[in-house]
Amino acid sequence: MQKLQGIAVSPGVAIGEALVMDSEGFRIPRRFVSRDAVVDELERLDKAIAASAAEIAHHRERVAAELGEKYGAIFEAHLQILQDAPFRNELDEMIRQRHYSPEYAVSHTLRRYAQVFQRAETSYLAERATDIFDIEKRLLRHLLGRRREGIAHLTSPVLVLAHNLTPSETSSLDRNFVRGFVTEIGGPGSHTAIVAEALEIPAVVGTGPFLTEVSGGDLVIIDGDKGLVILQPDEETLALYRHEAEAIRSLAAKLEPLRDLPAETRDGVRIQVLGNIEFPYEVDHCFDRGADGVGLYRTEFLYLGSEVEPTEEVHFQAYSQVLRVMAGKPVVIRTFDLGADKLPNVPRPDNENNPCLGLRSIRLALRNLPLFRTQLRAALRASALGPIEIMFPLISTLLELRQAKMVLADVMEDLQEHRVAFNRDLPVGMMVETPAAVLMIDRFVEAVDFLSLGTNDLIQYTLAVDRSNRDVVGLYNPADPAVLRLIAMAIQAADRKSVPINMCGQMSGNPLYTMLLLGMGLRHFSVTPSAIPEIKHVCRSVTLAECQAIAERVMLMENARDVKSYLKEETKKHKLGGMQ
Ligand code: PEP
Ligand code: MG
Repeated sequence: MQKLQGIAVSPGVAIGEALVMDSEGFRIPRRFVSRDAVVDELERLDKAIAASAAEIAHHRERVAAELGEKYGAIFEAHLQILQDAPFRNELDEMIRQRHYSPEYAVSHTLRRYAQVFQRAETSYLAERATDIFDIEKRLLRHLLGRRREGIAHLTSPVLVLAHNLTPSETSSLDRNFVRGFVTEIGGPGSHTAIVAEALEIPAVVGTGPFLTEVSGGDLVIIDGDKGLVILQPDEETLALYRHEAEAIRSLAAKLEPLRDLPAETRDGVRIQVLGNIEFPYEVDHCFDRGADGVGLYRTEFLYLGSEVEPTEEVHFQAYSQVLRVMAGKPVVIRTFDLGADKLPNVPRPDNENNPCLGLRSIRLALRNLPLFRTQLRAALRASALGPIEIMFPLISTLLELRQAKMVLADVMEDLQEHRVAFNRDLPVGMMVETPAAVLMIDRFVEAVDFLSLGTNDLIQYTLAVDRSNRDVVGLYNPADPAVLRLIAMAIQAADRKSVPINMCGQMSGNPLYTMLLLGMGLRHFSVTPSAIPEIKHVCRSVTLAECQAIAERVMLMENARDVKSYLKEETKKHKLGGMQ
């Protein structure tokens, strides 16, 4: 049994067989072969080495002919490694004596070599690790041949273990069979983590390297609450987690009756609890939990799940489906927030050193007007069917907001000219997710119908910590007083102008912060659908006076650690759960 500590990003417990993915998104097969198969496996390795060597020799000759002998010689080093006797002996020993599969032996050995280069002091030597990875990939390609499979076509339940999963890869996971996932890299606010919540499967990210320790088919436990991954658990641990999984199921069942009850505090203040969705099917999750509407529809996932750009009709059908299920409740369409880690086939700069500070979100929309207009047309057409609201992401200047609103007005005019029905008075809002937006909030409240606090980005941009980087996870903290002050400023400014303000970042779905946020004056929460019952439960268990007293104390504190431990104490005192 081996335990790995990562970052908990989607709650729950999953127990099952591992499906291990290599860095190119292909499955790594089982680690061991049977004793009888050893001779055949060695022969398979021979053939793969010979085919790889022939391929490299061919490249060497072609490049030498076109560019000269000197350049062809670059491939000579690859050939020498492949034909190196100690390398070959090591592989033979692993297969013959320890019954490892050739794929595993190749990966394990070459990665060990690569690490030696990576640890080297000069960058020239460190970069040579890429050559070793190149040889590994080539050999694996020949070993696996057509058996090299991606993650599509699953036929039985699995837990996916990967180096990384992009938001697009995560969103194409087969919901019928993927019961949880773990990635070696990634941070608490990454969109991969958000998609795991959408799929309602336990997930842990940022464990650090472990994939060479595990083999396809091994038994694995994912504890999405504690951020733990347990490889090949012993019987006692297995029994403990089976019991835990049962307890989670019964807690969910206990909260089920909340579905038809309003989120109303004990002193009678009605709180709105809406759902965040990434995919149209999630609207059923919102409905099943009794959401007051959809407070954030991350429409960029329409682009990420497909090879081609979604047409106006694709947008329109998706929005109509969500409206239909929400049956008269509001649906906030956030215009596409692409860029940074969400990369579709939209024209983008080749080389962005800081993609989170680059051409993402509303900036990308304003540079790609036909794309932006297509989406706005669809959203406006859907507004004739039900209460659609439009929200612009990552607004950081008033000019940007004005430009976005001008494009919207222009699309409205166009629709009107063509006598296409839409709601001219639909509410138009913006996300508050940059410190700049908060600092200018008194101006922004004059220009919008509603605001929504995107704390995932607000934390990242305020504290200058990458939300998807495991190495700075300790600094990515919703409880940081700087973040809390910005939230308080935004709520107060919205309140003064009676502009509704919502919070749709992950913080709003964490019950640890619910009392604090209520006390700060927040009345609208938009949360991942699975968190709706618990947030409702907190709202129904407290009075505003209690919450205000908590907020007053917290706002005097100087650091996140004190804030968190005080909030943990308070949630315990009120017998309410807390995720962190
Ligand atoms: C946020 O930043 O808090 C937010 C809700 O948007 P996203 O997570 O999609 O960036
Ligand atoms: Mg955001």
